[in-house]
Amino acid sequence: MKKQTTLGDQLRQRGISRRTFLKLCAITTSAMALPPTMIPRVARALEKAPRPSVIYLSFQECTGCLESLTRSHAPTLENLIFNSISLDYQDTLQAASGTAAEAARETAMKQFYGKYLLIVDGSIPTKDNGVYSTSAGRTNVDTLKEVAAGAAAVVAVGTCASFGGIPYANPNPTGAVPVSDLIKDKPIINVSGCPPIPVVITGVLAHYLTFGEIPALDRLGRPAAFYGESIHDRCYRRPFYDQGKFAKSFDDDGARNGWCLFELGCKGPTTHNACATTKWNGGVSFPIESGHPCLGCSEPNFWDGGGFYRALSQTTAPVGMWAGAAAVAGAAGGAAMGAAGRRKRAAAKREHHVVTAEELKKKGKEGQS
Ligand code: SF4
Ligand code: SF4
Repeated sequence: MKKQTTLGDQLRQRGISRRTFLKLCAITTSAMALPPTMIPRVARALEKAPRPSVIYLSFQECTGCLESLTRSHAPTLENLIFNSISLDYQDTLQAASGTAAEAARETAMKQFYGKYLLIVDGSIPTKDNGVYSTSAGRTNVDTLKEVAAGAAAVVAVGTCASFGGIPYANPNPTGAVPVSDLIKDKPIINVSGCPPIPVVITGVLAHYLTFGEIPALDRLGRPAAFYGESIHDRCYRRPFYDQGKFAKSFDDDGARNGWCLFELGCKGPTTHNACATTKWNGGVSFPIESGHPCLGCSEPNFWDGGGFYRALSQTTAPVGMWAGAAAVAGAAGGAAMGAAGRRKRAAAKREHHVVTAEELKKKGKEGQS
């Protein structure tokens, strides 16, 4: 019987040295918030892991998520993992097109039924029977349901796939919904962000390969290791926030001195993501470090949640409505999804809270007295 190719085989074939591999395992272990004592176990598991079959579907999106992933710098964990998986279908990247591309997807589905990972980016339009986004003559709704049926788990990459994102924003002309609105019987991991951080995507894949199960998730279905803390919790400008030192414009002395960007609209206090710790571009920097407030891109309804440059305006829609992707049985049709989307937006609008800088300062003073 032919030996199944493992991730270790792949890495050796690609000339990755043992030393580099162990270094990347250490980064992965730390990224997964595991103690250093787990590094040997992660290394052993990753080395022996069967080369996983992955089907990657892109729906209603801007390709930013895929750009984020494929433009990461070498040699990083993300391109290491992504070059080592068996990416059996990705309609933007693959050389095949037309019927050959669809045949590759169908072959992978048959061969690895119940075992492949499905990665989805983009939201799914449901209005008018889903006609606003089709591929190979089929609506995204049909393709998603068919491919998800044989998947071991679904990774919703980006805020569009996780929570609807920009296509979902008011007035949502295509009736866009996130993956979890349509798929109810599979584990779904939401890797939100617009775009998501590449190392977070691969951290999730590495966890799945290492432990054979999906990582612990927060209430919004996001991996807790990466979304467990807010940007504000880990922001290096936090001491200025605590002292009430806020930049008032992008070119004042406060901005030049690196003061807190809260009054310029920073949504860090209500945004959960790993930007302040893993950072971007291979750990070089992240938006706040470059002088721009966090927009809250990894949260539901971030686009409708208030002005980007208005001091903390953020939806507080009940998180339960987004969570537990596999909890409720029975998928509803497009019309029902559209109605659910409208209800969610109405709830988000009702519960939209605005906290002004003056209120914050007042609270601070009350706390000190
Ligand atoms: S810049 Fe944003 S995240 Fe950082 S301390 Fe200020 S409000 Fe918090
Ligand atoms: S800093 Fe905020 S807006 Fe920017 S990428 Fe991170 S979560 Fe998204």
